[in-house]
Amino acid sequence: MAKANYIRVIIDRAIYRELDYLVPEALSERVGVGSRVRVPFREKSALATVVAVLDHSEAKGLRPVEAVVGDAPTLSEELLDLARWISAYYCCPIEAVMRSLLPQVIRRAEVGWKKQLFVQPAGKIDIEEVEKLRRRAPRQAELLEALSRLETPIRAADLLRQTSLDNQTLRALVKRGLAELREEAVVRDPHADEQFVATSNLVLNPEQLFALKEIIQALDLPESARPILLHGVTGSGKTEIYLQAIRAALERGRSAIVLVPEISLTPQTVERFKGRFAEAQDAVAVLHSHLSEGERHDEWHKIHSGRARIAIGPRSAVFAPLKNLGLIVVDEEHENTYKQEEAPRYHARDVAVVRAKIEKCVVILGSATPSLESYHNATTGKYRLATLTQRIDEKQMPLMRIVDLRQERRKEKAAAILSEKLRAAIADRLEKSEQTILFLNRRGFSTSLLCSNCGEARDCPNCSVALTFHRHMARLSCHLCGHTAAVPKKCPACGKDALIYAGFGTEKVESTVSHIFPKATVRRMDADSMTRKEAYRETLRSFRTGKIDILVGTQMIAKGLHFPNVTLVGIINADLSLHLPDFRAGERTFQLLTQVAGRAGRGETPGEVFVQTYTPFSPSIQFARHHDFAGYFQQELEFRERCDFPPFKHAILITVRSAHEGRAKLSAETLVRRLKESLGSEFILGDATPAPLEKLQGQFRFHILIRGEAIMRLSRLVREALDKLPFPEDVTVTVDVDPYQLL
Ligand SMILES: [Zn+2]
Ligand SMILES: [Zn+2]
Repeated sequence: MAKANYIRVIIDRAIYRELDYLVPEALSERVGVGSRVRVPFREKSALATVVAVLDHSEAKGLRPVEAVVGDAPTLSEELLDLARWISAYYCCPIEAVMRSLLPQVIRRAEVGWKKQLFVQPAGKIDIEEVEKLRRRAPRQAELLEALSRLETPIRAADLLRQTSLDNQTLRALVKRGLAELREEAVVRDPHADEQFVATSNLVLNPEQLFALKEIIQALDLPESARPILLHGVTGSGKTEIYLQAIRAALERGRSAIVLVPEISLTPQTVERFKGRFAEAQDAVAVLHSHLSEGERHDEWHKIHSGRARIAIGPRSAVFAPLKNLGLIVVDEEHENTYKQEEAPRYHARDVAVVRAKIEKCVVILGSATPSLESYHNATTGKYRLATLTQRIDEKQMPLMRIVDLRQERRKEKAAAILSEKLRAAIADRLEKSEQTILFLNRRGFSTSLLCSNCGEARDCPNCSVALTFHRHMARLSCHLCGHTAAVPKKCPACGKDALIYAGFGTEKVESTVSHIFPKATVRRMDADSMTRKEAYRETLRSFRTGKIDILVGTQMIAKGLHFPNVTLVGIINADLSLHLPDFRAGERTFQLLTQVAGRAGRGETPGEVFVQTYTPFSPSIQFARHHDFAGYFQQELEFRERCDFPPFKHAILITVRSAHEGRAKLSAETLVRRLKESLGSEFILGDATPAPLEKLQGQFRFHILIRGEAIMRLSRLVREALDKLPFPEDVTVTVDVDPYQLL
């Protein structure tokens, strides 16, 4: 490291500025770009990240750095460049970006390695000595004898457990000079108790081989590589391609990141990656939100020190500090969970593409239902397209049948949860001992409590949505803010005993199905029933081993899982996602239907899917039924172009909120006036309007939507307009670039 005289830092607090400090002689050789330091700031001291080392500084009255935190620099120059890009693109202070880039446990450097005591004999053990000791101190002799049988040092705790002796005996033995204790750092490995069976490459079909060849070509010429969109139908073997591509990157001395949606980071996924690279212990680091602070510390350092060469995790793993990065895989690139819904509101897929450009590495975006943005980039030549049209082993795509609920309703008089056709299909599977998945994108028992006399619904007092009835807890609950309330006996509005439950969720589906098929084992998988991490694993295991006949669930069961014995998938209500006030509603419905349907027919028997809907002729449903992505893409793209939506224009959504409706509205209107002055006619500026979800968690919300092509410029103009406007203290303004959440 070069000697540092001055440094420029970013403080861990949003002040929108980089500051210079003096480096004292004693610290000058320990500070470099990416180091963490403690500096005086205002009247206190603060943690900060070094972004530049300087020979001189123009600033006056510089104060000296107080201390260096941690041993080695935490951030590479490339990651700092990435942070600056995120800050500019997503209209977000760089300080907030740094918080996402470095896990808290690394920023604070308060948690260290876990130390454990190891014990070994002090020199060669003499049998006679053991016998002599046995007369005076029989327990110490026993311990010494156990030690003499070992070839390597053992954890003190393990030795004591094996011999059922106590710590006092061990200390006495050490005091006698017959044994030695040593402290060693041990890695907290969340997967330490699991055995990973080593697997080798599977044989690829011609389509897979072709895709892999494209990737390897790119790995050999990373300077000119374009992102590769791997569009493969469900069950076409994308993961096998990722695994072999990663192997190729490692063989070239480079490392790899695999991004998966949090919901797909299942034991099944971890096993596939750990198993394939099992020959090198620690080769695969797994990052996810369930890690303890200590585990996160260890996994991060495993990556940072170069011991782990592959990092796998949800969106924040895009910042994994790997050196010599060769490949980034973004699996299920169309997934919403790649978008962070708090500052910095980045999209991990887009950040991956930018990081790949900065680090000169290859990026693969994989999906059975690519986002419109990515597919558009592939058709215009910005990305390369590799297509897998066949399922592996020539398995058939499932047969999709549409059930028109309007006709069912005429027959049944009341809204049925299971149509006659779906009911018959389930009975047939039960007879054959095959398994069924029933999907509904809504949890709870009844989705609203209405008064049949006056029509009043029970709404959340904090949010503008109806409360959902949950039978297992016998309460009403708000799915947005978590507010719960007792179920009233009479209508609070008119006092009549006329309350009825309307709409249904997964809990009701589970109970109805159990009622219709009393002999079947039915289990439910959603955020309510899976509050414990083990519950999720347990349910998956029982389903895999055939102990469950029918699995009812939400998105949780839609993604990435495959079970060979599932031959039937029922989509209880396909319309739920279709009618949201969001330009992506159609796209999401198409993706969801295709993904859920993909769970069927992964084994020897072909699968069958029943889609129940009130709008059987909507394009999203019809194209999904025919597995026609290209047709769907074409018509959706035309709609987006006509309406100036992505991928033709970028969008920025500004939300202004306050507990006072009037102040939120006035602030939003003032902001629109200001923006009108500064934005040119190349941008489409909408009015300040109440958000579709007008009230959330007690706050009134107003939206301003701006669209345009030059997103960097737009982002800067918005930032400048906001900086100049003094908002009242109780008004919060958030800026979301390329928003996914329009409610
Ligand atoms: Zn009433
Ligand atoms: Zn609420």
